[in-house]
Amino acid sequence: NADTAMYRAKASGRNTYQYYTHELTQRTRRQLSLEHHLRSALADQEFHLCYQPLIDQRTNAIVGAEALLRWDREGAVTIPPSEFIPLAEERGLIVPIGKWVLEQACRQIGAWSASDIGPLRVAVNVSGRQLDQRGFTRELDDLLLRHQIRPDLLELEVTETLLLHHDNASGLFEYLSQLGLRLSIDDFGTGYSSLSRLTQLHPNTLKIDQSFIQAALENANAAAITTAIIQMAHSLGLEVVAEGVETPEQLQFLRSRSADLIQGYHFSPPLKVHAFEEWVRKHRSRL
Ligand code: C2E
Ligand code: MG
Ligand code: MG
Ligand code: MG
Repeated sequence: NADTAMYRAKASGRNTYQYYTHELTQRTRRQLSLEHHLRSALADQEFHLCYQPLIDQRTNAIVGAEALLRWDREGAVTIPPSEFIPLAEERGLIVPIGKWVLEQACRQIGAWSASDIGPLRVAVNVSGRQLDQRGFTRELDDLLLRHQIRPDLLELEVTETLLLHHDNASGLFEYLSQLGLRLSIDDFGTGYSSLSRLTQLHPNTLKIDQSFIQAALENANAAAITTAIIQMAHSLGLEVVAEGVETPEQLQFLRSRSADLIQGYHFSPPLKVHAFEEWVRKHRSRL
């Protein structure tokens, strides 16, 4: 494996470098190269946020958006978040990157609030490493102050799986909700946690994982689980977001089950700021 090869290469001097590269798998080599580029991506301004609308199922009004990170490397293939986020988490790079994301999102909330777009809620994905960081709460406090935004326009999305393995999630969530931020549990349904335990965290929102939404029309179990999650969440006073809604049939199903907010390609994919603003204006003109 790579570690042994590295050790051997170090132990026997420079002509074994050749040998070392041979032993690296394609995958490891690709990872090292990715990591190298990821380290300079912030400084090289290669990141931007896309925004995907969140639509109120009853009124069709747009209530907000999820901010999703994109990494563009000039002249290179696009690398999806599913690939670079786990790498950034593993290497601790997610802390500065996540800080940049929050800064951008807050600036955007401020800009929209002061424009014809108006106040929109922006949901930001937050990683475990960020939550564990000393001073995370102070950083958020500081962000709200500097950008002078309504705290309830910023929603933090934390995955169910992460919360299951986090020691002090309830203390942290309590502090964050005291700041007035909204808290959302992402990818719900995949982590096998009990809803009753999660409600001790007093989240505002539950996002049903897209795997359930996409299976709901073909699979009776997925439909039953989706229906049950919505009912339970509602009786606990939580707002429900269905993500990954791609078809009118899925939308119809979720309407019949009274899911609150809809997110997915059926309405719009994640869009760059300018395209998102155009989308919002057009969507409103049709309401
Ligand atoms: P997520 O937070 O669950 O985000 C939803 C993902 O579903 C996004 O993928 C979005 O583009 C995609 N999606 C939305 N509508 C549809 C649909 O109708 N059909 C299908 N098939 N997919 C849809 P994306 O942008 O590739 O992001 C993947 C994951 O990467 C996110 O999952 C989130 O966990 C993570 N991520 C993205 N941006 C950030 C970030 O700024 N920070 C952190 N820590 N993680 C992020
Ligand atoms: Mg999310
Ligand atoms: Mg999700
Ligand atoms: Mg996800």
